[in-house]
Amino acid sequence: MIEYTPLFLGFVSGIVMGSFTTAIVHRVPMGRSFVHSKNDGVERSSCPSCGHVLAWYDLIPVISWISLMGRCRYCRRPIGGRYVAIELFMGILGAIIIHILGITVYGGLALFALPFIVSILFIFFRYREVYMLKSLGKTLLGILVLTALWSAYVLTV
Ligand SMILES: [Zn+2]
Repeated sequence: MIEYTPLFLGFVSGIVMGSFTTAIVHRVPMGRSFVHSKNDGVERSSCPSCGHVLAWYDLIPVISWISLMGRCRYCRRPIGGRYVAIELFMGILGAIIIHILGITVYGGLALFALPFIVSILFIFFRYREVYMLKSLGKTLLGILVLTALWSAYVLTV
C-alpha cells in the first residue's frame, strides 16, 4: 500500500526545488548570483521577451504557466515550456526521493541537494563550461559535508 501524502509532499517540494533550479540555470551562466543581484536586494525574475518584471502570481511553478497557457501576461509572447518541464521532472524526482528515504533528514537533504546537482548537469551539457560551475560545486560540496557530519552524528548516538 503506497502512502500518497508523502509522495504528494515530495512532488510539491520537488517542484519548488525545480523552480529554484530554473533560477540557477537561467542566471548563473550570465554571471549573476542565483540569490541576490549586485545592487543588493533580491533579484526579480523578468520576462525574457519584454523584460517586464514578473509579479509573484506569475511565478507560481507550473500553475502560472498553465493558467497563462505558456504566454507572458504582459507581451503575450510564448514562454518556453522548458522551465515547466524541469519543474515537473524535479517534482517526480522529489516524489521518488521521499518514497525511498521517507520524510527524514536524509530525504530533506537529498531534496535540498537536488537543484544543485540537476543545474550543474544542465549547465554543463548546455554550455560545456566548467568555470561557472565552481560556486555551485562548492555549495554542493558543503551540503555533502553536512550530510556526512550528520550521518556520523546519527550513527554514534
Ligand atoms: Zn513578456
